[in-house]
Amino acid sequence: MLGLGPYHTRPMPATPDEPVDAIVLASREAVVERRYELAGLPRVGEAGGLPGTGMTVRFRFSRAEGGIGIDSALDGQVVLTCQRCLRPVTVPVEGESALVVVADDAAAEQVPEDREPIVAEANHVDLTWLAEEELLLALPLVPLHEEACSAAVESEAVAVVSEVPEGKRQKPFENLRDLLKKQ
Ligand SMILES: [Zn+2]
Repeated sequence: MLGLGPYHTRPMPATPDEPVDAIVLASREAVVERRYELAGLPRVGEAGGLPGTGMTVRFRFSRAEGGIGIDSALDGQVVLTCQRCLRPVTVPVEGESALVVVADDAAAEQVPEDREPIVAEANHVDLTWLAEEELLLALPLVPLHEEACSAAVESEAVAVVSEVPEGKRQKPFENLRDLLKKQ
């Protein structure tokens, strides 16, 4: 995920949610894995994410040239609105990035080209924000059902109705159904 170029820096908001101390984690070469659902990713909701969106992100911390290295890998699914039929479409998303947390823009310019600098306090890194950022970058520009829309919508509906055991099958409307029950 280096498409933005090595000198593009992303400012991190000042009000982190459950920040981690990346310096300590890097000293242990720790790996942190977190699961995120749409409810915890407000910017993904604003970008069109629908209930059923969720992902797992693995963060690997290390000492890197110029700062603290964070290698992240995300794997999940996002439910968006198909731009052809305007019904929900489940899109698998994955992405990897090699970041380095630096103190300021000057330090960012020293970072080797194979890592993307992020200006933040290394002892106060907001992983949720990072995860959300990665997912936003992985979103398709124009979400569409792969096959003909009507067939795809039917097969997604069948996956819900037939109550396939947990785990294997994606159930994009599950959360939506729960929401409707609560109303
Ligand atoms: Zn469609």
